[in-house]
Amino acid sequence: MQNKITTLFKIEYPLIQAGMIWCSGWKLASAVSNAGGLGIIGSGSMYPAILEEHILKCKAATDKPFAVNLPMLYPDIDKHIELIIKHQVPIVFTSAGNPKTWTKHLKAHGITVVHVVSSVKFALKAEEAGVDAIVAEGFEAGGHNGRDETSTFCLIPMVAKAVQIPLIAAGGIGTGNGMLAAMILGADGVQIGSRFVTSIESSAHANFKNKIIDSKEGDTLLTLKELTPVRLLKNSFFDQVQEAYQKCATTEELNELLGRGRAKKGMFEGDLSEGELEIGQVAGLIDEIKSAGEIVTEIIAEFKEAKNLQISDNLNF
Ligand code: NDP
Ligand code: NDP
Repeated sequence: MQNKITTLFKIEYPLIQAGMIWCSGWKLASAVSNAGGLGIIGSGSMYPAILEEHILKCKAATDKPFAVNLPMLYPDIDKHIELIIKHQVPIVFTSAGNPKTWTKHLKAHGITVVHVVSSVKFALKAEEAGVDAIVAEGFEAGGHNGRDETSTFCLIPMVAKAVQIPLIAAGGIGTGNGMLAAMILGADGVQIGSRFVTSIESSAHANFKNKIIDSKEGDTLLTLKELTPVRLLKNSFFDQVQEAYQKCATTEELNELLGRGRAKKGMFEGDLSEGELEIGQVAGLIDEIKSAGEIVTEIIAEFKEAKNLQISDNLNF
């Protein structure tokens, strides 16, 4: 497989593991990169010293390219950027912020920059800021999400039509068939998060992984749009948010209810009732915990099989 994305990142398959707070540390990122995809360390949950530890451990565990995801709302972002430059991380995925802020600086240090967007408007802004590629993430995605609720199925062809730079599709993709569908819609590669949360190498708590395996269609919902829109698995904390809405809670009251460290509590410490459990709609399709390498191999095999498939019954009209 060789296309714009494999060439840009110097990887084997156009399959990227999303940077996810509390789930994608060095173990997951290096395992995905070693399997031929692109692994990403999710730095939004890491104090600078922890990020440095994860970068060094990732470098020791793989000689393949890997990336760091920088959510731009992170408070100590300049320290993270210093570390990324110091340790010559080859690729950075920025998200949740303005791509103009850091792209030039990162590129001046020879770093490939990708920005995550949820709309055509932001895709054009990212292209203008000079990023090397875009991740367009649809409404199905877990965790932080766009406000416009554009689904991946609609977003990808519209962004593909609007921009010239390589395009990575995200949101609702967890299988090789999904990967093929996204690429037929115009993407040059895919970014997959939820499926890797349940990998052996993910640093998510076992309780969270098992909860995802047990989840089904309809178990996640996008909420807290007044703060930062986020897709969560329904649980007791989610119910408290719904109750607050029924009581017409103000933004301040919602902020107070959310408190601090909910994502860590749910995803890293395994508190399934009081924690925030960020996961995508595709969770309903995930039914096994496997190694990240097995997941990559399975997705690519399924992709190739689907691509080479003879016309199947449902297409035979
Ligand atoms: P790691 O390299 O995985 O962890 C090194 C440091 O990074 C630790 O300080 C750990 O946090 C932190 N860390 C790990 N993953 C993330 C992440 N995705 N986002 C933010 N911070 C992260 O080394 P080890 O596997 O040897 O684990 C170190 C310790 O972390 C052990 O005591 C282990 O039990 C614990 N751990 C706990 C998990 C849990 O679900 N509760 C999951 C993974 C590791 P911290 O300092 O808070 O442990
Ligand atoms: P909260 O304000 O609820 O909690 C902050 C959490 O981030 C704590 O658990 C804290 O760990 C950890 N943390 C790591 N580095 C720092 C730092 N320099 N200053 C303060 N806290 C730090 O935030 P959330 O849990 O909602 O999100 C945490 C961060 O993750 C956000 O700032 C954002 O950058 C990012 N984020 C990224 C997402 C993504 O990439 N998809 C999705 C959601 C959030 P500790 O408890 O050990 O102190």
